[in-house]
Amino acid sequence: IVEARGIGKSFGELEVLSDIDFRLEPSEVVCVIGPSGSGKSTLLRCLAFLEPYDHGSVYIDGQLLGYEERGGMRVRARESRVDAVRAPVGMVFQHFHLWPHRTALENVTEALRLVNGLSRRDAEAEGMAMLERVGLAERAGHFPESLSGGQKQRVAIARALAMQPRVMFFDEPTSALDPELVGEVLDVMKQLAHDGMTMAIVTHEMGFAAKVADRVVFMDQGRIIESGPPETLFRTPRSERLQQFLNTWR
Ligand code: ATP
Ligand code: MG
Repeated sequence: IVEARGIGKSFGELEVLSDIDFRLEPSEVVCVIGPSGSGKSTLLRCLAFLEPYDHGSVYIDGQLLGYEERGGMRVRARESRVDAVRAPVGMVFQHFHLWPHRTALENVTEALRLVNGLSRRDAEAEGMAMLERVGLAERAGHFPESLSGGQKQRVAIARALAMQPRVMFFDEPTSALDPELVGEVLDVMKQLAHDGMTMAIVTHEMGFAAKVADRVVFMDQGRIIESGPPETLFRTPRSERLQQFLNTWR
């Protein structure tokens, strides 16, 4: 569904991603781990073209994302084209970015009405179904300020799911949460994985990665250092850098 070939990205002089190859097969769950500043967020952002990459290619369902070939030259694609190509991708971030003056349900239905043009009734039916999926149907009328961090993040997941993504990107969805609220969000993600959702998840939750990921990718200094099934990566890390990284989490 997602394929990146040789992507590179710099911010000014700073090379943040170098020569990254990354694939996500249908129903695959990939967890991306690595030290702070290694480029994990930038990778996800480039895969969704929230950040333009400088080199290489990202394909979503075989379609080049962010650029177009015109007369043998590569040019930036129009924003509408970028949106169309990344339509199958849903994103959830560390901070939930909910509308404070809208209820949980309104947060979920907003894009359904504005982007997808659903009627209020259809959007609400769909929105309630999504809130049910994350276990929050009974909180539909609550405003974000009266929800816990874990509940807010689950609303953000419901909002992304409402757009019927075929791939979900998560960037440290539980890092801003109090420890006792992490589990409820991970449980929702576990359920999604179980339902066959294709997911790329940047996380520091090694236990979750070990249990749920089909593949773990370890990044350091803008490169993928190791990639493989969690049992291999966690039990027999090959590189010294991954060994050191895992030691700090034990
Ligand atoms: P963390 O675990 O702390 O979230 P990360 O692995 O997600 O780290 P990135 O956020 O991708 O790392 O950042 C990689 C590098 O790129 C860092 O050195 C960061 O300072 C730099 N960087 C990220 N975004 C920008 C930006 N918009 N402008 C300039 N530098 C940036
Ligand atoms: Mg990050």
